[in-house]
Amino acid sequence: MMTSPAPTLMAARVAVIGAGPAGLMAAQVLAEAGCAVTVYDRMPSVGRKLLMAGRGGLNLTHSEPLEAFIRRFGPAAVRMGPLIEAYPPSALTAWAAGLGQETFVGSSGRVFPKALKASPLLRAWLTRLQALGVEIRPRHDWTGWNAKGALTFVTPDGKATATPDATILAVGGASWPKLGSTGAWAKVLAKAGVAVSPLKPANAGFDVAWSELFRDRFPGEPLKGVALTFGRVRVRGEAMVTRHGLEGGAIYALCADIREAIAKDGSARLWIDLRPDARVEELAAKLAQQPANQSASNRLRKALHMTPLETNLLREAHGKELPADPAAMAAAIKGAPLTLTAIRPIARAISTAGGVDFRAVDKDLMLTARPGVFVAGEMLDWEAPTGGYLLQASFATGVSAARGVLRRLGLS
Ligand SMILES: Cc1cc2nc3c(=O)[nH]c(=O)nc-3n(C[C@H](O)[C@H](O)[C@H](O)COP(=O)(O)OP(=O)(O)OC[C@H]3O[C@@H](n4cnc5c(N)ncnc54)[C@H](O)[C@@H]3O)c2cc1C
Repeated sequence: MMTSPAPTLMAARVAVIGAGPAGLMAAQVLAEAGCAVTVYDRMPSVGRKLLMAGRGGLNLTHSEPLEAFIRRFGPAAVRMGPLIEAYPPSALTAWAAGLGQETFVGSSGRVFPKALKASPLLRAWLTRLQALGVEIRPRHDWTGWNAKGALTFVTPDGKATATPDATILAVGGASWPKLGSTGAWAKVLAKAGVAVSPLKPANAGFDVAWSELFRDRFPGEPLKGVALTFGRVRVRGEAMVTRHGLEGGAIYALCADIREAIAKDGSARLWIDLRPDARVEELAAKLAQQPANQSASNRLRKALHMTPLETNLLREAHGKELPADPAAMAAAIKGAPLTLTAIRPIARAISTAGGVDFRAVDKDLMLTARPGVFVAGEMLDWEAPTGGYLLQASFATGVSAARGVLRRLGLS
């Protein structure tokens, strides 16, 4: 007599949609627990945004104390905290080391793999996943569910469906869509009754109405070691001049507040301190030593080593005629106001704000409107500055969603 294997002995089949850091990490946790995992991605190859992040050295995570780390998630810290505590930076660096990628703590506490790129890590990871039996199906564009509840895909060979025991969605945000994440899922999930906050650019640049001269002359030049103040928040760092305005680390750190202010008021006023380590009196004293008949740019260059970029930025902020009085000039250097008129488009943003509302998922990241479907990564409604927080959050939520699947399937 033919007998079918007892259901408990059959591996649970889990579909992971999205082969970025969140999806691949979920796949690893599930496969290590014995699940039969299939990873679907709409692109011909996996982990494209991770590889892009590798071009900047791959800032995997940050070494600051966990409490401070979690605070970086602002209003989402309440929900992100337990998820990051369950898979903290120490777990991530141990995982990277396990794949042969030792890490080091760089300037300002950021953590990077010693190789300073993503490709060796991704290569070793894919080999590990293959050994665990994870099947990867590229060129599968997930489009939702059919009337019978099966996952639906568009592939080069036509339409396909899948009916796994559980699903993890890890389809990313909407920035850099050419790398795969387009945010098209937002409509699909909204239609399925899931609360999704509008997707917005995060860690993005802003438009400034530069003069023609400034716009043509200075794009690509960095303002190094400046302090930027918006409202009551002051950050030290670097900003890059672009044809459109400003971008770069210090701008990104203020991005969420500035974005919301522009949405409310139409524009936002940013203050730049070009010499944050010097007091206004010190600057004034140095400027006063220069002969009064010199041009403003000569006085600034000789007294304070101001570059043409810095001098011209002062003109953009304060008008062509810079003050002759040393004290007034010093004050102008300590506070140069710029009006930011719009955030740059999401297609060029480092990350995405908005996404699946935390109220739409339980503590295991399962959609309450769609039991058996979990979400992970940047598609959840959190945002954080650059500094390794984005990847850490993506990896950690991938782990949590996978552990949630295991609990639901009675496998943990
Ligand atoms: C230029 C750049 C540099 C960055 N540098 C850093 C850094 O140094 N440190 C840091 O912490 N973060 C960095 N980030 C951010 C970080 O890369 C992302 O936060 C992270 O990749 C998000 O992971 P994820 O798995 O949620 O989504 P993604 O990495 O976007 O992966 C989602 C996957 O889902 C697939 N997908 C989307 N829709 C579908 C669909 N309908 N069907 C099937 N598949 C689909 C996509 O093709 C993609 O492969 C950087 C981002 C950019 C753009």
